Amino acid sequence: MKLHIQNNFTAELPADPSEINIPRQVEKACFSYVEPKKPSNASLIHASAEVANLLGLSQEDTVSDDFLNIFSGNTVYPGTRPYAMPYAGHQFGNWAGQLGDGRAINLTEVTHNDTSYTLQLKGAGPTPYSRTADGFAVLRSSIREHLCAEAMHYLGVPTTRSLSLMLSGDQVLRDILYNGNPAYEKGAIVCRTAPSFIRFGNFELFASRNDLATLQLLADYTIKHHFPEIKSEGKEKYLAFFQEVSRTTLDMIVHWQRVGFVHGVMNTDNMSIHGITIDYGPYGWLEDYDPNWTPNTTDRQYKRYRFGNQPNIALWNLYQLANALFPLINDTKPLETILNAFSSDYQKDYLNMMRNKLGFSLIQEEDIILIESLTELLQLAETDMTIFFRNLSSVQKLDSAEAAFEKIKEAFYNEKDIIESVLNNWYTWLEHYKNRIDEEVFTDAERKKQMNTVNPKYVLRNYMAQLCIDDADKGNYSLLNELFELLKKPYDEQPDSQKWFAKRPDWARDKVGCSMLSCSS
Ligand code: AMP
Ligand code: MG
Repeated sequence: MKLHIQNNFTAELPADPSEINIPRQVEKACFSYVEPKKPSNASLIHASAEVANLLGLSQEDTVSDDFLNIFSGNTVYPGTRPYAMPYAGHQFGNWAGQLGDGRAINLTEVTHNDTSYTLQLKGAGPTPYSRTADGFAVLRSSIREHLCAEAMHYLGVPTTRSLSLMLSGDQVLRDILYNGNPAYEKGAIVCRTAPSFIRFGNFELFASRNDLATLQLLADYTIKHHFPEIKSEGKEKYLAFFQEVSRTTLDMIVHWQRVGFVHGVMNTDNMSIHGITIDYGPYGWLEDYDPNWTPNTTDRQYKRYRFGNQPNIALWNLYQLANALFPLINDTKPLETILNAFSSDYQKDYLNMMRNKLGFSLIQEEDIILIESLTELLQLAETDMTIFFRNLSSVQKLDSAEAAFEKIKEAFYNEKDIIESVLNNWYTWLEHYKNRIDEEVFTDAERKKQMNTVNPKYVLRNYMAQLCIDDADKGNYSLLNELFELLKKPYDEQPDSQKWFAKRPDWARDKVGCSMLSCSS
């Protein structure tokens, strides 16, 4: 197995002089060398052939002993030195101080086809940043990360990718509900990839300590390697960087809202400077269209990270990044200009995204009313977001309102309980909708085709992940393989998999792992 290795991050940035692997504060360093813990009996559960390919690896490579050894942390690839990064962050709105890669270990950077990837193991043992935790990860959370990262990629949502999912052969103790009932679970290791794993929090750490030298080193490094299109110097350079992070973060959030993804823990340490989705923890998929929904039980009281609040939180997080970069810029005005533009840019992009979901190619000012009334209507009765938008594409210009309703009614969780006034509101909305699509040049068939490229048929519904976890716990990975293949083509009809185009079953409504997830992973 041959990888094209490069070690820019560790070659160019300051290392922690200590290599003692105990939890501690690390100053003036961008990383600490640390070796993964050798697993007692690693085995491969699943590898993504496509991610392997991106790295220059073949399918045969993914089943080789080398692959097993390197991506389980059993051996270190020649010419590389694994490391963990310190970062800080705001968690649930509060300053949390130094955090860091507590259970993530970067193996190395790899280049292939002129693209550079950082490879990172998640769950490969303690680092100086593990604080009071153990550095390991359990099978359930690792399955959720491996499946969801790849599903998001195929949905067209910017994300880290997942190369492999392995069992470590070790047991890990977890108190899933934080209620004093810890139990042993199977330990697992995911190898994920990204251009880099640099987060907003990496910059916040040095700014909070007034360590401007390291802050600037990190910013210069990041721009040089990951934002090479920025050619300006001095404060303009950092402003251009901030502008770009704002833009890609905004794009990512619009995608989340499009597919109904709720991250669940949008702390600033979970925000990638590449505007890619990172750290799949207690995330969830919107089934019933409810902007107030969050899957994260830790956030149940304030619902800071609820679906409808994700754009606001992205902006809040960008404020924290702006504060962190401020010492390099020393001018609030241009930073504020970028931040102030976020909300109006978001509104514009959100509207266009919704226009696409509704199959409109023309831009009409009044669309905003149609879209707002739809999102209100979707909340009046429990309605499945994915099924609603997918089925809406079957509505035709010449349908009666009743006929149109027949086509979307599968999306209601309790169709029979819909009261008359709500039903009438639907008929009215569908009338408006049909008039609106009538103004388009698209034929019904063309519109349907376009809508089906932005409204997925299959997403990783919360209960699907849980079913897969239950099987995998017993050593049966066939559902995992099935879902992985299904979610590679989320916009295709895939008639053999129709059973996954279904509302959340009743048993999953309030079940742990399906609608309620904790950070305990
Ligand atoms: P998260 O909420 O998963 O983004 O994690 C927040 C912080 O806690 C990060 O610094 C993680 O590295 C750390 N962390 C989470 N789980 C563990 C664990 N099992 N062992 C060590 N550190 C952890
Ligand atoms: Mg995290």
